[in-house]
Amino acid sequence: MKVLKFGGTSVGSTEGIVNMLDIIKKEVQTGEKPVVVLSAMSGITNMLTKMAEEAVIGEGNQELLQEVLDRHFAVVQEMLPIQQQAPVYAQLKIYFSEVEKILSAIQNLKECSPKSLDLVISYGERCATFLVTKIAEQYFPESLFVDAATIIKTDSNFGNAKVDTRLSEDLISIFYNSHADSLLFITGFIASDQQGQTTTLGRGGSDYTAAIVGSALNSSEIQIWTGVNGMMTADPRMVKKAFSLTELSYTEAMEMSFFGARVIYPPTMIPAFLKKIPIIIKSILQPDFTGTVICHSCDSSDLPIKGISSINEISIINLQGSGMVGKAGFSGKLFSLLAHEQINVIMITQSSSEHSITFAIKPEDAVKAQRLIEQEFELELQAKKLEQPEVEEGLSILAIVGENMKKTTGMSGKLFSALGRNGVNVRAIAQGSSEHNISVVILQQDLAKALNAVHDEFFTELKKTLNVFCLGTGNIGKTLFRQLYEHRDFLQKHNGIQVKITGISNSRKMLFEEEGIPLDSWQEELDQAGEPADLQGFVAKMKEMNLPNCVFVDNTASPKPITFYEEIFKSNVSVVTSNKIGNSSSYSQYRTFKDTAHTHGVDFYYETNVGAGLPIVRTLKDLMMSGDRVLLIEAVLSGTISFIFNHFKGEAKFHEVVKLAQEKGYTEPDPRDDLNGKDFMRKMLILARDAGYELEAEDVKIDNILPGSCLNAQSVTDFYKELEAADDFFEKLKKEAEQSGKALRYIGKLEDGKVSITLQMVDESHPFFVLSGSDNIIAFTTERYKERPLVVKGPGAGAEVTAAGVFADIVNVGTH
Ligand code: ADP
Ligand code: ASP
Ligand code: MG
Repeated sequence: MKVLKFGGTSVGSTEGIVNMLDIIKKEVQTGEKPVVVLSAMSGITNMLTKMAEEAVIGEGNQELLQEVLDRHFAVVQEMLPIQQQAPVYAQLKIYFSEVEKILSAIQNLKECSPKSLDLVISYGERCATFLVTKIAEQYFPESLFVDAATIIKTDSNFGNAKVDTRLSEDLISIFYNSHADSLLFITGFIASDQQGQTTTLGRGGSDYTAAIVGSALNSSEIQIWTGVNGMMTADPRMVKKAFSLTELSYTEAMEMSFFGARVIYPPTMIPAFLKKIPIIIKSILQPDFTGTVICHSCDSSDLPIKGISSINEISIINLQGSGMVGKAGFSGKLFSLLAHEQINVIMITQSSSEHSITFAIKPEDAVKAQRLIEQEFELELQAKKLEQPEVEEGLSILAIVGENMKKTTGMSGKLFSALGRNGVNVRAIAQGSSEHNISVVILQQDLAKALNAVHDEFFTELKKTLNVFCLGTGNIGKTLFRQLYEHRDFLQKHNGIQVKITGISNSRKMLFEEEGIPLDSWQEELDQAGEPADLQGFVAKMKEMNLPNCVFVDNTASPKPITFYEEIFKSNVSVVTSNKIGNSSSYSQYRTFKDTAHTHGVDFYYETNVGAGLPIVRTLKDLMMSGDRVLLIEAVLSGTISFIFNHFKGEAKFHEVVKLAQEKGYTEPDPRDDLNGKDFMRKMLILARDAGYELEAEDVKIDNILPGSCLNAQSVTDFYKELEAADDFFEKLKKEAEQSGKALRYIGKLEDGKVSITLQMVDESHPFFVLSGSDNIIAFTTERYKERPLVVKGPGAGAEVTAAGVFADIVNVGTH
C-alpha cells in the first residue's frame, strides 16, 4: 500500500485535482487502495495566518475571508454537478463561520495564542480535504474524509507540536483496519493534544503527516506530489538552471530541506528512514516525470554535491569575550537556554580560540534570544567578560549538500572561489562534522547572485551564463552582437557557455533586460524601449542588478568609460575592452586597473587593444607567466600603414596609395591620424607595459613618416595637396628600397626597455619582408625563442576580426 500526499498546488486548482484523481485511479486499478493525505490549497495557510495577525490588532479582514471562501467555492462549482453542490457549500459555510467566530474572539481579546492560531489555520486542511473527498466520491463512492486530529496525537507545543509516535501509530492502524473498505482522505498538518485541542506539526507539515501514516501502516512507498519535478539542485524560482535529481539519501534530503529546500519538510524523513520506506517527490503538473527518489540504498552518483539550498532570511547573533575561553559548559548553557525557549538554532560557528560564538536564528527570534542571553549572562556582561550580544539582520544562509563531499577534496575551495569572484561577502561559515554540508551566511541582497554563481561552479556540465553589459553600438558592437547571435547554439552545445546581453548602451539610449536582450532585434528594442543614455546610470544599474558572472564590455573609442573601470572592478565585475585609451594613458592608471582587477578576483581582458583579434596580448602574457623574458619585440601593428607600404610599389605614387587606402575604408577620416603613428604608439606602449616596463607615452620615440608640410596642412584636401607635392621624397625612398631588393616597413620595436617606431628597409631574410594586405605581424624574441622569434601574423584590423577578439575575451572570462 502506498501513501499519496498532495500539496497546495494539487488541491489548489481544478487542473491539479483532475490530475490527482487520475493518479489515484491508476493506483486503485493496481488492486491496492492508497491512503491519501492532503494539505490546504496553496496560499490559504498564509491567508488564515494573516487574518489572525490582523485580528490581534483589532482589524477584521472581511475581503480576505471572502477570498478564501471564493477559492473553495469556485472548485465546488467547477467540479461537482449542481445537484451535489448544496451539502458541500453548507459544510464549507459551517467551517468558515467557525473561522469567523474564532477570529472575532481574537479581535475582542486582542490576543492570539499559538493555540488559537493553530485552530484558525487548521481549517485550511479541513476545508480542502473535505472538498476533495466530496469530489472524489463521484469516482470512488467509498471515499472517506478523515480529520487527522482524531488519529494523530501530539504534545501541546502549539505551532510545532511533537508527535506521540507510539500512540498515533496505534490509532492510525486501528482506524485503517476498521475502515478497510474505505478510500481514506486524511488532513495533513493537523493533529490534537491530549486534551483534544487542535495542534499543527509546523509549516509544511503535511509531508510529515504522510510519513507518519506511511510508517504506521508499513506502506511500500510515500509519494509527495507537489508543483515541481522533484527535489532540484536548487530552488527553481531562484536558479533557472536547476535540474531534478533522480536519487537522494535520507541524510541528503534532510540537509537540503533543513537549509531551506521547502519541497519537503525535514522531519518527514525520520519515520521513513526508520522503516526504510522510500519517499518519492513528483510533480502534479507532469505526472509522468519520474521525480526524485529518497531512499536507503541510493546509487552513488558522480555529482560532487547534490544541491544548493538556502534560507532567505535569517539573523545572526555574535557573542564574544574572554568569559567563554576554556569555560566548560558555556555553549551547552547557551544553547539549552535557547532550546528551552523554543528558539531553533539553524547554524553555529565557534572560533578555535573559543573567544567568539556566532549562531543563526530566524529573524523573529532575534530580540527574544538577545534578551535571554542578557538575562542569563548578566554577571559576565557586568564583569565585561562577555561583550553585549550583537544581532545582525538582513542575512541569508546558502548551503551546499551532498554525501560525496567527504570523499572529494576542494569542495570548499570551489564554493569560496565562486563567492569571492562574484564579490559575495561571507559573514560566517560552518561545515557539518559529517561533511555532508557546508553552509555560509551572506547578505540577503547577494543571495540570488550567489546561488546562481555557486550552481554554475558545481554543475559544470551545465552552461556557464555570462551576464554582459555592452557599451558602444558602432561597427564593433554591432558585429559582436551578430556574431554572438549566430554562434549562440554552438556556444551552448560545445562550450557550455551562454552569453546573455543584459545591458546595452550607446551615446543616445540604454536598455536593460535581466533575461537577456534578444540579439536579433536589439536595435529596435533599444530604439523603442531604451531610456536616455547616462553612463553613470548604466554602471549604477549594472551594480544594482547584482548578477553573477558579470562582464562589462567597452566597445567605444571614448575616454569617458575609462573613468568607471576602477569602480567596476571594485564591484567584482570583469572588464573586456577594445578601447585602447585606458591602457595607453598614464602608467599609473594602467597599473591601477590591473591591480584592482586582481584584488577583486575578476578579469581584465583587452586582446583587441593590439592587432584586433590576433592572439598577441595573450601570447605575451603566457610567455611572461611561464617565466620567459622578452629580449626584443618587433612589430608592424598598423593595418593602415601596412596596406599603404604593401601597395607602394612600381608605378604607384605615394599620395595615390594613401587615397586608395582611404577609399577602401582603411584609414581614419583624416589619414594623418594613422600616419602620425599615434595609434601604433599606443599599441607598442601597451605591449611594453605588459612586458614589464614602466613607460609613458612620451618615452616612445616616433619616426615621422610625413614631412612637416603635410602634418601642418589645414584640411584633409590641403593635406593631399602637400602629400602630392612631397611625392618625390617618397619616390626616392621607394627607389632606394626596390634597387636594393628591400621593402619599406614602419616597424615598432621594444628593446632594452626602449620603444621606438621607425620607417625601415628590410631585406627578404627579415620576417616582415613578406606582408600582404593590411596584415599585422609581431615577432617576439625571448630567452626561449632566441634562435628564431615566435611570430604572430594575420589581419589586424576591421570590425569582423576585432569583434571576434572581443567575443573570445568575453567567453574566456572566469576560465583562467
Ligand atoms: P506543496 O504545497 O506541494 O507542499 P511547497 O510549496 O511546500 O509545495 O514546496 C514546493 C516549493 O519548494 C517549490 O515551489 C519550490 O519553489 C521550492 N523549492 C525550494 N527548494 C527547492 C529544491 N531544491 N527543489 C525543488 N523545489 C524547491
Ligand atoms: N498548509 C500547511 C502550510 O502551508 C502545511 C503544508 O502545506 O504542508 O504550511
Ligand atoms: Mg510543502
